[in-house]
Amino acid sequence: MAISASAQLSKAVKQMYLDLPQGEKVQAMYIWIDGTGQCLRCKTRTLDNEPQTIKDLPEWNFGGAGTYQSEGSNSDMFLIPIAMFRDPFRKDPNKLVLCEVLKYNRKTAETNLRQTCNQIMSMVSNEQPWFGMEQEYTLLGMDGQPFGWPSNGFPEPQGPYYCGVGADKAYGRDIVEAHYRACLYAGVKIAGTNAEVMPAQWKFQVGPCEGINMGDHLWIARFILHRVCEDFGIVVSFDPKPVTGNWNGAGCHTNFSTKPMREEGGLKHIEEAIELLGKRHEYHIRIYDPKGGSDNKRRLTGFHETCNLNEFSAGVANRNTSICISRTVAQEKKGYFEDRRPSANCDPYAVTEVLIRTCLLKETGDEPLQYKN
Ligand code: ADP
Ligand code: MN
Repeated sequence: MAISASAQLSKAVKQMYLDLPQGEKVQAMYIWIDGTGQCLRCKTRTLDNEPQTIKDLPEWNFGGAGTYQSEGSNSDMFLIPIAMFRDPFRKDPNKLVLCEVLKYNRKTAETNLRQTCNQIMSMVSNEQPWFGMEQEYTLLGMDGQPFGWPSNGFPEPQGPYYCGVGADKAYGRDIVEAHYRACLYAGVKIAGTNAEVMPAQWKFQVGPCEGINMGDHLWIARFILHRVCEDFGIVVSFDPKPVTGNWNGAGCHTNFSTKPMREEGGLKHIEEAIELLGKRHEYHIRIYDPKGGSDNKRRLTGFHETCNLNEFSAGVANRNTSICISRTVAQEKKGYFEDRRPSANCDPYAVTEVLIRTCLLKETGDEPLQYKN
């Protein structure tokens, strides 16, 4: 198994230094989405005091030329702190700080999708929109092979792995356990975790989160996963179809509800939302992966518990549809619905924004509408 070189450095020697008292100062790790819209970057600064709220964190900057974010000769970009979490790696009082990125002229960077998402969320805050996202991912060795797979050939076919237990069924649980605990420590609203259908594929759920918090919490949960995997010397992939053939892909099912949907007789509102989604399928597919649908095309085949990319469908407890209503929700006639289309590498800001635009603002066109502030 190909493990990274730095994972083989002595962790006991490192611990010797980390046991030193850090004094009065606080380390704040600033985290942002780079120009790919999929990868995260981070750097750390020292603060004199422990920040109590996000307002205590200063703006910062970085050179966009190294992150696929520069604009010609003006490569300086601004980091605007927007959410603060406890740092599970350096521990209290140190912080993880999620940031938005602005260009040198303080205009929104291309891959900063949080700003419009936040604007749309604030327009519908009285509906109290809740989201829960199911992040699937695949663990890979440094050679790009799924973690624990034989170097020549394949493991036993799919069947025993989903929610599996045992050394021949659960590939890489150490990482899952470390990530789960680290998320709880950080204050990420992680809802659960389980092994997925393909060996070395796992999922964690985040939610329910209201409004803009969904994107913030999912991005930090992804950062923590990358960072945990780094310590173990292996790589996490959010590719929607990391292995072709008879192996499941990776999605980011998005569960959604509003206050009226959660109240008595809410099923009526759920059905209304699904009707609106059915009229805007192609547009949603364009938003649901970072490549305008072409990434998801490899995954949404209509096989392996997915719907077909080209057709909209909805059903109760049916995992081959675009939208799924769980049996409990159908029985209780209230609750939430699940959009199974988003790709594992989706931007949760984009996904949650378009759900609001279509289901609540009732947009129908092929382009997002502009609203006055
Ligand atoms: P699945 O049955 O598809 O495997 P999971 O159990 O993996 O579903 O995930 C369900 C997700 O739904 C969780 O993230 C949870 O937080 C979220 N959720 C539960 N209730 C609601 C609700 N009322 N509104 C939005 N999301 C919800
Ligand atoms: Mn699901």
